[in-house]
Amino acid sequence: IKSKLPQVGTTIFTVMSKLAADHKAINLSQGYPGFDCYPYLQDLVTKYMNEGYNQYAPMSGVPALRNRLAKKTLSVYDVDYDQEEEVTIVSGATEALYAAITAVVRPGDEVILLEPAYDSYEPAVRLNGGVPVYVALNIPDFSVDWEKVEKAITPKTRLIMVNTPHNPGGYVWTQNDIDTLADLVRGREIYIVSDDVYEHIVFEGKAHIPLFTHPELRKITFACGSFGKTFHITGWKIGFCLAPKKLSAEFRKIHQFLTFSTVTPIQYALADYMEDPSRYLYLRFFYEEKRDLFCKGLESTGLKFTPAEGSFFQCASYGHLSDESDYDLAVRMAKEVGVACIPTSVFYHDKRDHKILRFCFAKEDNELEKALKLLQSGL
Ligand code: PMP
Ligand code: GLN
Repeated sequence: IKSKLPQVGTTIFTVMSKLAADHKAINLSQGYPGFDCYPYLQDLVTKYMNEGYNQYAPMSGVPALRNRLAKKTLSVYDVDYDQEEEVTIVSGATEALYAAITAVVRPGDEVILLEPAYDSYEPAVRLNGGVPVYVALNIPDFSVDWEKVEKAITPKTRLIMVNTPHNPGGYVWTQNDIDTLADLVRGREIYIVSDDVYEHIVFEGKAHIPLFTHPELRKITFACGSFGKTFHITGWKIGFCLAPKKLSAEFRKIHQFLTFSTVTPIQYALADYMEDPSRYLYLRFFYEEKRDLFCKGLESTGLKFTPAEGSFFQCASYGHLSDESDYDLAVRMAKEVGVACIPTSVFYHDKRDHKILRFCFAKEDNELEKALKLLQSGL
């Protein structure tokens, strides 16, 4: 068979998690919570299963959950989405991203990817015949170099991928970023896919400003979210997409034939569970404590870092200590130090090595403390 994705192998997340398991290292590599969701949420899922909500959900999602999401979007961000035609429930943000990219990218269209970029974007672009155009984010803070973005835009640009709060960098877009993007795309047929999976994990009183709060961007944006990050249920693979009517209609055509619909009892359970907004609004405080604990410990490791503004990842650089490649160092750390992390070069198409490692701090405090002790005793 002639591969359609010759460059793609096993994802770094699978590779590093396996290495961590094989060497009994503390796994701060793959991004998932090292603790369970709340028992009440599990009880709700069980309840709906026992009550017989076990067959296909409606293609666009269970009305109660679409309604809940529309209400949440209005109350948290003051933006109105029509639950019937503009909100779609899908099987994880990964599906939302794929369906949104597929909805707009035609062969030969250029898609701007801001690097480091989450690993699922590029393959989705390529499978649709799109041409990725890479723009590097500023190092070390992962902010956007708008001059570079402007230069990258051509008449062929069809889509710009945005991710805020950013994985792996932790950068959170400002109002100025959003306004600048709106200025750059005005008058062109460019769409935006905004990956907002860490929307509720933003620190120090900062706000996640969704792109759709900008009236012009609302008309061209697919906002992709994940319940996995917000409710500690990454294994349940459930997410959503908010997009204006015409874009949602195209999005749903793709979703219809990717998965058709998404796990039924969990949709009902989430609709009930989200009735109390504190169940997602507390998340920023929950993770800020973990970020602070982790950063405090990192100070005595010799690694350099600026605390993440959002997401549950902390990046740290070691170039002043060693010339080793980030990939080799990450593999060696999993084997010899006992802590697994992600080399950020994997998020660049050319595997550019800034000697920066990504650590996931969505773990129990005692596990973070153990990892810090190991890191402090030397890389
Ligand atoms: N986007 C980003 C930036 C992510 O970090 C992740 C997963 N951690 C996803 C998308 C995928 O989300 P899901 O598990 O809901 O498919
Ligand atoms: N999003 C997670 C991360 O960045 C991993 C998800 C996956 O394993 N595909 O680590």
